[in-house]
Amino acid sequence: MGKKSEKITLREAFGIHYRAFQDIRKYCPGTFLVTALHSVIRALSPYVTIYLSARILNELAGPRRGEVLWPLVLLAIGSTALLALLSGILFRYKVAMGARYGARKNHIFADKMLSMDYADIDKTETHDTLSKIKQGENWQGWGFNRLFRFFSDFLQSVFGILGAIALTVSLFMMQVPETAGALTVLNHPVFILVFIAALAFAAGLSPMCKNKVVKYEVSCTEDALFGNRLFIAFGYMSSEPSRASDIRMHNQQVIARHYMDMDNAFSVVGKMSKLAAGPAGAWNAASGCISAGLTGMVYVFVCLKAWAGAFSVGSVSQYVGAVTALSKNISLLLETVGTMKGNVPFMKTTYQFLDIPNTMYQGSLTTEKRADRNYEVEFQDVSFKYPGSSQWSLRHVNMKFQIGKRLAVVGENGSGKTTFIKLLCRLYDPQEGQILLNGIDIRKYNYRDYMDVFSVVFQDFQLLSQPLGANVAGSSTYDRERVRKALTDAGFAQRLETMPQGLDTYLYKDLEASGVEVSGGEAQKIAIARALYKDAPFIILDEPTAALDPIAEAEIYSKFNEIAGDKTAIYISHRLSSCKFCDEILVFHAGELIQRGTHEGLLADENGKYCQLWNAQAQYYTQKAV
Ligand code: ADP
Repeated sequence: MGKKSEKITLREAFGIHYRAFQDIRKYCPGTFLVTALHSVIRALSPYVTIYLSARILNELAGPRRGEVLWPLVLLAIGSTALLALLSGILFRYKVAMGARYGARKNHIFADKMLSMDYADIDKTETHDTLSKIKQGENWQGWGFNRLFRFFSDFLQSVFGILGAIALTVSLFMMQVPETAGALTVLNHPVFILVFIAALAFAAGLSPMCKNKVVKYEVSCTEDALFGNRLFIAFGYMSSEPSRASDIRMHNQQVIARHYMDMDNAFSVVGKMSKLAAGPAGAWNAASGCISAGLTGMVYVFVCLKAWAGAFSVGSVSQYVGAVTALSKNISLLLETVGTMKGNVPFMKTTYQFLDIPNTMYQGSLTTEKRADRNYEVEFQDVSFKYPGSSQWSLRHVNMKFQIGKRLAVVGENGSGKTTFIKLLCRLYDPQEGQILLNGIDIRKYNYRDYMDVFSVVFQDFQLLSQPLGANVAGSSTYDRERVRKALTDAGFAQRLETMPQGLDTYLYKDLEASGVEVSGGEAQKIAIARALYKDAPFIILDEPTAALDPIAEAEIYSKFNEIAGDKTAIYISHRLSSCKFCDEILVFHAGELIQRGTHEGLLADENGKYCQLWNAQAQYYTQKAV
């Protein structure tokens, strides 16, 4: 967040909020239009009532003509009812739109996460910035959360001021008659100017005091963020089912309580409470006193003028109402501007995240749609290190995928297998060398198009709390037969029969009480079915069987040759026995591709890494008799 001493200019506050308004408007079409209409009606409707009741009172206090009174009364009732109705309808819409705004404004962050370079998603700073934004939103609704309110308060105050001015001008124009003696001073231009200046001063002073309160609130941000972090980390700990066993075994509630009891910003003896009881509370009270004093000044001035005979009693209610509304709206405007300034550091953090640049080159070539699946991918002297790392994770890798063949990638943990797949899927670009698809550098292809060539089951795949079929198809409308076939091919057929609503059974219980909790192994089979359903020319399984028991693993591998059909299939595995069936095996070690060949060929090289790994695993299996 910005430093306390940093001065925020009005221009900066308006500039960043105007940008925010333009950016967020696209996500919530109609929201701002409804809000604008409601604000204008809400700002102007009191004046209609004030004006018409003043006319009625003047008539009652004066000539009392029935033919004037009746139309005035009917107009007052009709217009007040109509405006109240309109305002009520618009308010309903505004509330509904506001709720939608609350949900939709988050899409801007989701879109950014999905479109940013994968390398940036990995960075701690990215997550830190995003969590600062979320915590700012949760604490007093700063950031984009405030935009809706700013917009509505800003319009309401501006139109409120314009309406009040229109009804107040005549207050200063109406002259006290010469017969009023000393009170004719009320006509004097200097007196009027001094009175207006005093009004403006008081109207400005009150929000200035309120803005001091906002500054105190903003100064608590860091403390509040820490308080929120504590709450997020420990607040719901005891109610999370996944933690239930650990908490019991390790008495974790003791340490959680220790942190929760820490003197954080939200406790009664914390910084915020002290400020509220001290200076922040005092400024708030001062603001209230000044507003009351201002109303008093208006009453005295208006009543004196009426007493001196400048206008009749009906106009007193008009002027008192209009001038009070004027000062209220000036205060609202200044408070809104002050809070906008308070929101600037939060908006800056928001844009620090949204402005993370995409530095990966995005090509525009479309990939050929080939029925023969003749997609040839080649690594040419590829070297890569992760951003911020000085170690090469891949070094001088040269290889060509054989179309339609089964390829296994093996090696110890940390040897570079997953990195190899991440580069193949262009989640990162290599620092040296290039990867080619049908002879063209993959950077030159449109990324979406390029991704269509691959179906990947990553180790850390995620399923959604959605019906099974929708999970497999990645869409709520799908070809049920194809989904069933993909699930059968992935070894899920038997389990599918026991699913209470078949393909329509919800996975997990987050959205549906009758949802089914699938085991790790079952989830993996569903993920494999999802990859099969996509039917891309390349199918990649990154340690796909890690969560499967040996029987399920054997079941999948024995069938996979057949399932993969004419696709090029790549398996990453640390269980060498799973890779025996592959046409070719790549052996990685410390980021280098050190051996390649068939299982038998590699085993023949007794001094080779593959043979060493094989013997180590064979020994393990024999000793542990797994
Ligand atoms: P494997 O899949 O064979 O277990 P990886 O490809 O995951 O190995 O890792 C290769 C090397 O790259 C390891 O030294 C690992 O520590 C490093 N590495 C992996 N991911 C990252 C990352 N996001 N940032 C920095 N280094 C990483």
